[in-house]
Order: sequence, then structure tokens, then C-alpha cells
Amino acid sequence: MQVLITNDDGIMSPGIQQLAAQARQLGDIYLSAPLSQKSAIGHGITIWDPIRIKEYSLPGIKKAWAVEGTPADCVKLAINHICPQPDLIISGINNGPNLGTDVLYSGTVSAAIEGAILGIPSMAVSLNSFQSDDYSVAAEITLLVVRYLENHSKLVSPDTLLNVNVPPVPKEELKGFRITRLGIREYENTFDQRTDPRGNMYFWLSGMPIPHGEEDPEIDMAAVEQNYVSITPLQFDLTNYRIWKDMKEWGLEDLHL
Ligand code: MN
Repeated sequence: MQVLITNDDGIMSPGIQQLAAQARQLGDIYLSAPLSQKSAIGHGITIWDPIRIKEYSLPGIKKAWAVEGTPADCVKLAINHICPQPDLIISGINNGPNLGTDVLYSGTVSAAIEGAILGIPSMAVSLNSFQSDDYSVAAEITLLVVRYLENHSKLVSPDTLLNVNVPPVPKEELKGFRITRLGIREYENTFDQRTDPRGNMYFWLSGMPIPHGEEDPEIDMAAVEQNYVSITPLQFDLTNYRIWKDMKEWGLEDLHL
């Protein structure tokens, strides 16, 4: 199979490199990832600047492009210029979790959303640790999930992408898999106020997540905390269909202009 791998931490980050090395077992691997750190950039695309690329040659990788752009740029560009019809897009493995409402800020998840918009089976994979540089278990889990989905003809789910979060524990300590729903991730949004060398005030966002108190392992944050691999099906259609149906009865459509 043909697999396009991307991320938001940059092409040289250990997460994408370790995933790419293991994913070679799946078939032809293409890399298109940001040249530099693009975490929390969401679904941004580059329209006011040129998008420059640098080609790398990496052992066992068909083509590797470092892109001066966002994760969504990387996917768009790869589909246009490197591999038009991959069987799968994997975004990751991210350094740090992508849980609950944080997926709305995530470059990792946005790259997978871009893949889904383009009609390609896509998944985002994150390791729930900012400290660990060892992505071997998470990469193994990724391959296990990909092979399972492929063997059961479940790789394609239109309009849907999978958001996978892996707890940072040895394989023996993983409890298994949970198909989850997004929780609500709340932060103490503490801005650290500082002063630059010229005496100007500036801020640095340094919020810590507030403990969510969720115990139901159907919620992604709780599942990962309980050492389950969390798999959440996400969709990019943000329409609230319940309210949409209700609003049809509100008479707004009969309002005279
Ligand atoms: Mn990241």
C-alpha cells in the first residue's frame, strides 16, 4: 500500500521519523511534513507567501519533502505533487496528546482532516507525553490498527478520520483499545507576563490542563489516563444537525426581506 506520512512537529522530529521507519513494512512511504515546528497551528493554510520545499533522501522512503508551510499545506501539496492517491494518510506521531477540544487547535489532527476532505482514509496519532522520545510502542500500535482496518476493509470511512492517542507506557501496561468520544479539555489559561531586553512587555501562553474528573473510558481523555489506546472517529462537518432541524421550525426561512 501507499502511505503518506505527515505531522506538525517538523520532518526531523523523532515521532515522524520512528513512525516512517516502522511503516516501511506497509509498503511505499512518502513524507511531506513541515520544515519547522507547527504545533497548535490548526487548519491554517499558506496563501500570502510562497511555499518552498526541500527534498530529503531518507533510507527506504520513496520521497520526502520538508515544506515551509502548515500541516494542511503539506497534505494538499503532497496529493498534488508527490502521491496523488495514497491508500492512507497518517499524521504523527505527535509529541503530546490531542484529546478533547484540543483537536480544534491541533496541526496533527488538521492534517488528517485535510486528508479526509480530499477523500483519503486518514488518521492522526499522538503519544500522550511531551517528555518521551520513544515512539516505538505508539508506532507498533499504529501499524496494528492500520493492518486490522485494512484486513477488515474498514480503512475507508467517508468524511471521517480517526484520532488515535496512545498512553506513554510500556506495551505490557496497555489495557487495550477504546472507541471514544471527545471530551472537553479545559485549561487554566495562564499567560506568563514577561519583559523583553528592550523593556517591552510580552506574554507567553503557558496554561496547564485542569483535571477533568472524567472516569468513563468512553471519553478520550479518561481512556488514555486509564492506559487504553483511544480511537475517536471525527468528522469535519461541524453542522449541528439537531439544531438545524429545530431551526427549520423557527420561521426564520419565512422572514420577509
Ligand atoms: Mn505537535
